[in-house]
Amino acid sequence: MVKFLDLHKQYLSIKGEIDAAIKSVISDSAFVGGKYVNFFEEQFRNYIAANYCIGVANGTDALEIAIKSLELPANTEIIVPANSFVATAEAVINAGYKIKFCDNNNYYNIDYRDFEENITENTSAVIFVHLYGQSVDFDNLLPIAKKHNLKIIEDCAQAHGTKYKNKKVGTFGDIAAFSFYPGKNLGAYGDAGAIITNDYQLANKCRLLANHGSPKKHEHTIVGRNSRLDGINAAILNAKLYHLDKWNAIRNVAASYYNEYLKDVGDLILPEILEDTYSVFHLYVIRTKYRDELADFLNKNEIETGIHYPIAIPKQKAFSFVNQDTTYMRACNWDKELLSLPMGEHLTSADTEKVVSAIRKFFS
Ligand SMILES: *Cc1c(COP(=O)(O)O)cnc(C)c1O
Repeated sequence: MVKFLDLHKQYLSIKGEIDAAIKSVISDSAFVGGKYVNFFEEQFRNYIAANYCIGVANGTDALEIAIKSLELPANTEIIVPANSFVATAEAVINAGYKIKFCDNNNYYNIDYRDFEENITENTSAVIFVHLYGQSVDFDNLLPIAKKHNLKIIEDCAQAHGTKYKNKKVGTFGDIAAFSFYPGKNLGAYGDAGAIITNDYQLANKCRLLANHGSPKKHEHTIVGRNSRLDGINAAILNAKLYHLDKWNAIRNVAASYYNEYLKDVGDLILPEILEDTYSVFHLYVIRTKYRDELADFLNKNEIETGIHYPIAIPKQKAFSFVNQDTTYMRACNWDKELLSLPMGEHLTSADTEKVVSAIRKFFS
């Protein structure tokens, strides 16, 4: 069986470190906040090379709190790529803003031409999602955002360690959101997330919002909420952060193998990698007109696959209230063709060979 992702195998490979980490948090009773959370925030901001890291309860909260911290004008629009996980769009609505969907390019990330066309006098911000682990095209996007005076939120939920021109994503905009959902490249044992920024004011605001608006015990200066990273997950993330680069490198080896041996097979469209970027291949996504048949065939051959995402966000019932034209959007037409192949540090060369030969067999 070639698994899509194998978190149990990952755990066994670092069992000693994980078990010890959990034990010490319990011994210290440092369950919410405290030294393990502080230490992880310090390690993670160093990893990204940012000034501030605020641990929160999950990636969706990270996005929502990050948006709120920007104090954008009421009723303005935030541009969101049509191709993303639904949380990117939910965060905009739940933070109290209007949403405008923008199409993706051949790299499955926000298309700069469509981005600029969607900007109106009511637009105040944009969310750049580094989907599937690949950086957005900053050289084309940043000048447009700057010209129109937009705030930039990076959604790095799939991009822990992704680089654009040798610099890790997470500090190209005003503020960034990370998710540590178990299946992400850096995953906790439950829900967890973090906000990254270089801006002291924004960092402060996020900390307040995420912790009952409380700068110190028994004082509440704004109405906040409870969205905190817990000690056990912080300690687990710390242990795993140490292995992240190695795991991302293994994902890249698997991706290179797929790239080489799936080239010119059937009608497959393989992921294109933007020049001068390092993708962490959160997902390896291909396209084919025979998506459902291929997924079925692979499943029968004991190879797991996924679809990210089978219904583009603008076509979801929850977002039917958004005034839009989905017919022209690549994101809304390609969702029938997307297929995610097994991807993760669990893959052996025998696994990737098995995937490739099954796909070749399907198309022959
Ligand atoms: C996972 C994910 C989120 C949400 O993170 P959670 O921790 O699951 O709340 C947001 N955006 C994208 C692109 C994601 O993949």
